[in-house]
Amino acid sequence: MMIMCREATKLMSLSLDRNLTRRERLALRVHTMMCRPCRRCQAQFELLHRLGEQPPTTDDDPNATP
Ligand SMILES: [Zn+2]
Repeated sequence: MMIMCREATKLMSLSLDRNLTRRERLALRVHTMMCRPCRRCQAQFELLHRLGEQPPTTDDDPNATP
């Protein structure tokens, strides 16, 4: 079953809030496999997701000289 780009992006943003079901993940995966724009979009979402999971690094020293 092929979902629309709109549904695919919806699932991507949904995945930031909760874990997708196996079925949703599969639908999304199949779609992104075939749809390059969505693949790109998903990369962005995954980046956001990763940033959300890990606390941002706060170790950059303002006094550090390059
Ligand atoms: Zn698409």
